[in-house]
Amino acid sequence: MKTEKISKKGIVCIIVALLIIVVGVAGYLVLNFVYKQEITAKLSDENEELPKVGDINVVPAEKFEVPQNLRAVVPIFMYHFILDDYGDALDSENFMRPSSLEEQIKYIADNGYETIFIDEMDELYKYKKPVALTFDDCFVYFYNNAFPLLKKYNQKATIFIITDYINGENYLTEEQIKEIADSGLVKVESHTKSHQYLDQMTYEEQLEEARGSKERLESITGKEVSVYCYPTGRYNQTTLDIIKDYYDFGLEMLGGVYDSNEVSSMYKIPRIYANRSMPLSTFANYLAQSTVVY
Ligand SMILES: [Zn+2]
Repeated sequence: MKTEKISKKGIVCIIVALLIIVVGVAGYLVLNFVYKQEITAKLSDENEELPKVGDINVVPAEKFEVPQNLRAVVPIFMYHFILDDYGDALDSENFMRPSSLEEQIKYIADNGYETIFIDEMDELYKYKKPVALTFDDCFVYFYNNAFPLLKKYNQKATIFIITDYINGENYLTEEQIKEIADSGLVKVESHTKSHQYLDQMTYEEQLEEARGSKERLESITGKEVSVYCYPTGRYNQTTLDIIKDYYDFGLEMLGGVYDSNEVSSMYKIPRIYANRSMPLSTFANYLAQSTVVY
C-alpha cells in the first residue's frame, strides 16, 4: 500500500511537471512568433534602402545599423597585364601569367575568402574575410585572360579604364566594356582619360580627366562610376579637391594591406602590387591578414 501511495504522488508530480513544460514551450513559441514577425517587417523596410551590389558573395543585411567602431584589414591586389608573353617590355613584372592568376583566384575560392568591389569599402560589415582584386589600365588581355577566370570561379573584381584608349589597338572596345559591366562580377571604374601625371596638370585639366572619364564610362555601362585610380599613383591636393564631387573612393598604387586603423581617407586606399614573381605563399600570407571585427 505504501508503495502505491508513493507512486500516486509520483504521478501527480510528473503531471504537474509536464504541465509546466507544456505551458513554457507554448509561451516561448508564441513570443518567438511575434518577435519574428517584427524582424521580418523591419528587414523588408531595410532591404528597400540597401544598395545593389550584384548577386555574388553578398551577405544579406543582418544588421540594422552600420557598426561605428569597425576595424577592417583588407588585402587589395593590383594587377596590370594578364599575359604569358611580355615580349620586349621592360616592365615584365607587370605581366601576370594567366596560370598564376588562376592559382590565386582558386586559392581565394577554396579558402572561403570573399572578393569585394572597391565601392564596397564602406560596407565592410557585410563581410568576414574580404579581399579585393583590381586591374589597372585594362588592355584586351583582361577580357581574354582574366575575365573568364572570374566567371569560372564566380569572383568579383574592379577594373580601371583609360577612357581615351577605348576602341584603340589592343584595348577594350565599348562592347567588351559593356559586356564586362553587365556580368555583375566586375565593376568598371576610372583610370582617367589620358593616363598622364595628375600632379603636373592645371586645375582645369584635372577636372576634365575626372569628369570626362566618369561621363564616358557611365554612358557605356549605364552604371555609376565612383572609384578613381590615380595613374602611377601620382596625385595632389587639387586632385582630392576635385574628385570629392565626382567619386567616393581613390586608389593609390602601393602601400600594402588596407587597415582601417591606419588609412585616414577613402581617397587614399593602398594596394599590394601583385607582380609576376609573387609566389602563391606570399599571396596567401597577405590573404591571411583579412579581418573584419566590431
Ligand atoms: Zn595605370
